[in-house]
Amino acid sequence: MHYEDSAEFAARLDRDDPLAGFRDLFEFPEERGSRKSVYFCGHSLGLQPKLAAQYVSEELSEWARRGVEGHFEAARPWVSYHRNAAGALATLTGADPIEVVAMNTLTVNLHVLMSSFYRPEGPRRKIVIESTAFPSDRYAAASQIRMHGHDPGRDLLQWQPRDDQLLYMDDLATLLEREGGQTALLLLPGVQYYSGQVLDMPGICALARRHGCRVGFDLAHAIGNVALELHEWGPDFAAWCSYKYLNSGPGAIAGAFVHQRHLAPGDLDQLHGWWGNNAATRFEMRDEFDPAPGADVFQLSCPPVLSFAPVLASLEIFTDAGLSRLIEKSRRLTGYLAWLIAHRFEGRIDIITSAAERGCQLSLVIRDKGVDARQVFRNLTKLNVIGDWREPDVIRIAPVPLYNSYGDVFACAERLQLALDAA
Ligand SMILES: *Cc1c(COP(=O)(O)O)cnc(C)c1O
Repeated sequence: MHYEDSAEFAARLDRDDPLAGFRDLFEFPEERGSRKSVYFCGHSLGLQPKLAAQYVSEELSEWARRGVEGHFEAARPWVSYHRNAAGALATLTGADPIEVVAMNTLTVNLHVLMSSFYRPEGPRRKIVIESTAFPSDRYAAASQIRMHGHDPGRDLLQWQPRDDQLLYMDDLATLLEREGGQTALLLLPGVQYYSGQVLDMPGICALARRHGCRVGFDLAHAIGNVALELHEWGPDFAAWCSYKYLNSGPGAIAGAFVHQRHLAPGDLDQLHGWWGNNAATRFEMRDEFDPAPGADVFQLSCPPVLSFAPVLASLEIFTDAGLSRLIEKSRRLTGYLAWLIAHRFEGRIDIITSAAERGCQLSLVIRDKGVDARQVFRNLTKLNVIGDWREPDVIRIAPVPLYNSYGDVFACAERLQLALDAA
């Protein structure tokens, strides 16, 4: 792709962008001074689709008008509300609709799924995470090990990145050569939150199979960002949140995938609640649990419809835009930002995210001697470029193809220059 360092060039790319209109479907944060918000924080909290307010308010009025009868008589009956998300989630994850369910929140789902898929037995009791794992995933894995009476100091294994902060499959292969026979589960991200690196998910699944380990993916930074083929790749399970690239609002209902090979009734021990019971017999209030088909069996409680409504609004937009078109734009958009940064800030700013393995996000490290990187980040925020700071030294920014423009990317480069010069 050919790029140029000019506002005119960025404007031309925006004029030629078939997805440019989707930007108008979102609410943008306010101006700061006279500077429009360049919102590059979709990796942390996606912007609000305008449709979200309408969907929430529809459910509020169903509740007001119908009371309890909304369970069966609302336009989208609450008893089966969660199924409205399954088709679009299956498309985004490359799954069969029967393999996915929207429920709970991410860390809760990791625990629910590990309670079925992490069953340490004999010597096979270790869990592999990456050493830079998101804290919640680390805490979840360590506490699972403790819940089974074992010691995370011994049983939580860590895949270390190299000096360039990236993870290498060769290193995971070496780790499993040594520890594979004692490893029960690999709990790894699809996209690493700190570096933005897209991991080789099919390769990880193949390696795990060779060593007889189970695999669960945390797709928090992957869903709605990169192409996923979960059914074909064959992890045992996956989970994600919906408030990052899925734009469904703070604390939105999350999602889970369980591979079809585990979905035969009685195949797995699992935690049960009444919403995992077959919908046809649920209200017979039987003593015996009658499992719902598919991943629905993992549901515990009735779906929280009010925090679910924005998920449906957001998924509708993804369906209209189409993930493959979004990914195509994402490559160009993030490619343009990477090009501008290399072009303007050679030697002053490094991008640690691998060019060959990335989605929207770029993780920047300030290399300018004597410059306080935190101050650069604070300056950038004052200039209304919204990214985030991650300890110890990374600024994460993510142009999102649904609502960011090439003009945003150009403005980001201009303001990055100001932020750097003023630090
Ligand atoms: C965002 C994120 C979380 C957040 O977990 P919640 O349960 O939604 O609070 C967990 N793990 C990873 C890898 C994340 O990126």
